[in-house]
This record gives sequence, C-alpha cells and structure tokens, in this order.
Amino acid sequence: MKKHNFSAGPSILPQEVFEKASKALLDFENTGLSIIEISHRSKEFVAVYDKAVALVKEILNVPETHEVLFLQGGASTQFLMTAINLMKSENGKAAYINTGAWSKKAIKEAGLFGEVNVVATSEDTNHNYIPKNVEIPSDVDYVHITSNNTIFGTQYKSFPETNAPLVADMSSDIFSKPIDVSKFGIIYAGAQKNLGPAGATLVIVKKDILGKTGRTIPSMLDYQIHIKGESMFNTPPVFAIYVSMLNLEYLKANGGLEAATKRNEEKAALLYNEIDNNPSFVNNVAKEDRSLMNVVFLLKDESKNDEFLAACSEAGISNVKGHRSVGGFRASIYNAMPIESVQALIDVMKKF
Ligand SMILES: *Cc1c(COP(=O)(O)O)cnc(C)c1O
Repeated sequence: MKKHNFSAGPSILPQEVFEKASKALLDFENTGLSIIEISHRSKEFVAVYDKAVALVKEILNVPETHEVLFLQGGASTQFLMTAINLMKSENGKAAYINTGAWSKKAIKEAGLFGEVNVVATSEDTNHNYIPKNVEIPSDVDYVHITSNNTIFGTQYKSFPETNAPLVADMSSDIFSKPIDVSKFGIIYAGAQKNLGPAGATLVIVKKDILGKTGRTIPSMLDYQIHIKGESMFNTPPVFAIYVSMLNLEYLKANGGLEAATKRNEEKAALLYNEIDNNPSFVNNVAKEDRSLMNVVFLLKDESKNDEFLAACSEAGISNVKGHRSVGGFRASIYNAMPIESVQALIDVMKKF
C-alpha cells in the first residue's frame, strides 16, 4: 500500500506523474529508448525542455523580462550563485532577512563575495515568525529572503518592498500559490519539494540585473552563460526536468495555481484547526505567518513523542518527525498531498 508520505523533501508527487515517469524510463514515447539514454540535444529532449520552460512561464505568468533555467547543484548552489552574479566586486553589499536555517546558509555563502547586512532576523524566538516592516538600506545590490521556511513552518504572505532586486529562495512553496514574478530579480527553488525529483533547480531570473558586478564569474556559475546555452551549457538533469515537466502538466490540467491554492488552504486549515483544538498538541508559530506547506507541531507531553510516531506508522503515515532543530513533528503538505492523507493524520491525532 502507498504510504501517506509527509516528507519535507524529497517529497511526494502525484501518482499519475510517477506512473508516466516510470514508463518513460523504459520506453520514452515509443522511441524504443529510455528518457535517460537519449541525447539532451535530441529533438525529443529539446521538446521536453521547451515544454517544461513554457509551462513554468504559463503557470507562474513569467513576464518577458525574465528567463527560466533548469540548473543543477540544488538551492544550496543558488546561495552562492545569486551572490556571485549580483554582488558588486567593489564594495559589494547585500541585505538578507534571516528567517531560519536556509536563510542562514545563504547568508554564509554570500559573505564570501561581499558585505552582508542581516537587516532583520527571527532568531530571538527560534524563527517562529516572519519579521515585518523591515527597513532595507537603499544602497544594497540586492535583498534576499526565504519565502517559506521548511524547517520552522513559517511563510511570507506578502513580500518586502524594495528598489534593489529581490531574490527569493522559494524551494518549498514554489507553485503552491500565484506570485507576481515581476517583483523579483531572482527566484530559485530546488525541485524536490513541490516541483519534481531532486537534481534540478529552477531559476527565474530578470535579465537586466545581470552583468553588472565587474567580477569574473566561473562559467558554470554565470547565469548569462546558462541563459545563452538555454540550460544546456553542460548536460542538464534530463530525468529531473522530464518529471518536473510531467508534474507541471498535471498541475495545469488540475486547475493551475488557483485550484492548487484552494486545495492547499483547505488542507492546512484542517490540520491547524486540529492542532489548535486538540489539547494534546500545540503550534508555536505566529498565526499570520503559518506555512501552508510545512505544518510544525509539538506534543505538550513530549515524553509521548515516540508513542505518537508509532501510532502514525501504524496508520501508514511516514516522515512526520520534526527537524532536529525544532523537535516535535512536521507534516509537509505540498501540492501532491491528498486531503485524505491529511485526514488520516488528523484521525491519529484525534485518537491519541
Ligand atoms: C530544501 C531547501 C533547501 C536546500 O535545497 P537543496 O536543493 O538540497 O540544496 C534550500 N532552501 C529551502 C527553503 C529548502 O526548503
């Protein structure tokens, strides 16, 4: 039996996507070849790539000013790639908002290339809220945020206003709701949370912010080189791109982002409602900042943690253990998570 998989990432995709992907692994569109043994420059794969890019543009309403790339190295490589492409080589300066572990890693990498101003942080309360009304200096090369904090269960509901390019790590909430791409300089996301398998990294970059640093950028880290090569400067992650494309097709066929938002809001409301009304559990995140993707919660009596995990396991529920830095539990309820699975978790909580 398929499990109710609440993994934070790599995480679930729709069953239909898994089925199509497994077929293509053996025989891609009746070519007699596997999707992973054809040339990335073949017309068959180029069609896959073009379709993936077109779907990203259509679903997210990406304006002409921005390019869509599928790169490798995960969001973690974007921590340094964003900095090396945007931070001026002389007196480079960037503003970062620290909302958790991933922000912190981005801050550390950016520090290799220039001055990093942490203009706000939620560290004082173990990152259980999103700092608001942050004053951003006007002389920074860019501003970096983490739109959804996968570990701490917080999420931006509106984005900071800035004249400098706004860079967002959207690894764990991309494609979960509509966003105004025109407001961002760079959006990046490791695919493995809400888009596809690990191995591909989606980057949406505004062209006119590039090429202004005055520094020499190694080819593999240079967005302009990847734009010119249409993500094929080197061999792209073909299978991860293919499965991402299938997942985007599925998303589009199922009502796009508007329908996804509705489903995500409904699932999250059910689960938070249970946490808030069940005397055994608690969620310590500021209500207005609660993530619709990663729902964190604690047992008031933590000595019962293992018992609860065992009860989950018995009900076919996997991967609800919280991140070690927060403890307790985390239910990641990305797009592909069926409401029935959320209900299965709630049933266990009710009985517990
Ligand atoms: C998972 C995650 C990352 C790390 O992504 P990799 O692809 O493993 O490098 C970065 N940021 C956020 C918000 C994440 O959820």
